[in-house]
Amino acid sequence: MDLKKIEKYTLDDISVFFKENADAILIVDAKLVIYKAISRKGIFLDLIKENGNYHDLIEKLWLNFNNSSNKITSDYQVFTPSIGKFDGKYSKRLKIVFDNTLYIIQMTIYPIADNNIYMFILDELDNSENIQEFLTNEKFNTIQNTYLFSMYVDLIKDTTNSISVTEISDEPINSNEIKYTDWRKMIVNMIYADDQSIFLERTDPEYLKKNLAPERTMSLDCQMKNLEGKYIWVKLIFRRAETNNADDFRFVFMIQDIHENSVKLLSALKKFEGLASEDPLTGLYNHGRIETEIYNAIENKKECERSLSIMMIDIDYFKKVNDTLGHAIGDITLKHFVAIICDFFKFYNIKVGRWGGDEFVALCYDIKAAELMTIAENMRIKISETKFDMAGNITCSIGITEINKNDEVKEAFERVDKAMYAAKLNGRNGVMVK
Ligand code: GH3
Ligand code: MG
Repeated sequence: MDLKKIEKYTLDDISVFFKENADAILIVDAKLVIYKAISRKGIFLDLIKENGNYHDLIEKLWLNFNNSSNKITSDYQVFTPSIGKFDGKYSKRLKIVFDNTLYIIQMTIYPIADNNIYMFILDELDNSENIQEFLTNEKFNTIQNTYLFSMYVDLIKDTTNSISVTEISDEPINSNEIKYTDWRKMIVNMIYADDQSIFLERTDPEYLKKNLAPERTMSLDCQMKNLEGKYIWVKLIFRRAETNNADDFRFVFMIQDIHENSVKLLSALKKFEGLASEDPLTGLYNHGRIETEIYNAIENKKECERSLSIMMIDIDYFKKVNDTLGHAIGDITLKHFVAIICDFFKFYNIKVGRWGGDEFVALCYDIKAAELMTIAENMRIKISETKFDMAGNITCSIGITEINKNDEVKEAFERVDKAMYAAKLNGRNGVMVK
């Protein structure tokens, strides 16, 4: 075995070796802001032009950095001709995403003349490492997409440390930042006005100490301004670190982007809210909803002068329609009946609901009793003159009561009920006021 194999290598051999093996060698004039590629291979054939603007090159590399942390900005600035000046050799591993593929690149810079001329040697690193790191990177990306921000808080020391989940440099991942108490006051301005008080309550150190036990997680959904100044739905998550010391209070705080799902959820909830208030047969407010509307209106009446009345409408002998023609025809008749009364109400500030069966309640705002009597009377006549499909002629009885300032809900309902039954007792197909 020739132990002295290495003896024959000279500096010239090494330069040949370099020429053959380095993926890209560039000469940069940082003063004139230009570069020249002496050799290019592999991805550098696409990534780097033969000649070009040095600034563009750095920007291009920088824009391809798969990293959004703040530190990269300072990295980038190191290379810019206006800020960076290499007095010595410099080496850095870069992660670059190009054509949706992650490349790990070793970049070595040698100042080769004292007038801002540098040599850049760029090498794409081994692929097997690439794959492993790519997987890690993908994971980081997914986290980055949903977790907008995270930090580590020590309530006792009143400190925050940012944790950048996309951090890739070898430098320590935590760096001391602002006081937690200051951070809260600053961030509250990014929270949607209606959510600010709950944000302040939940992030209050005393609240957290009282409510967040070790290893427990707490969260709060609210709207927060994003970088474009738009409010988006986010989940604020607090997870207290494990400890058995009550005086040791550290927690991880994260902001998760939940906008898309929240928007979908809110519209579904709105739909459910609507469904929960609606009578499925007629589409009117259901009993619960109209009852709430009436309750609120009577309560408000105590403080305002608006005139307010309730009207109760019940179809006469409706049971007969069902008994003789069947339930299905009964339903069609009910819908037709509702269409007619709604047609009367549409010009007024009237909310109408199905009280149950063939009975309906209308909450009438800003209509004087006399005018309401006329509306009711016209409606009664219209119903009695309408020829209902299958059911033919039907009539209805109507009770009206005006709400006065001192009315309680119960009294008002009793009066309108009485008025309606009086109309029934009076031979039906009539209007009564109580
Ligand atoms: P009155 O003049 O005293 O009001 O006589 P009525 O027959 O209308 O008596 P009542 O109000 O007690 O009867 C209401 C009837 O309405 C009973 C039931 O057969 C019918 N009904 C209740 N809900 C529905 C429904 O959803 N669909 C149909 N088709 N009929 C219903
Ligand atoms: Mg009836």
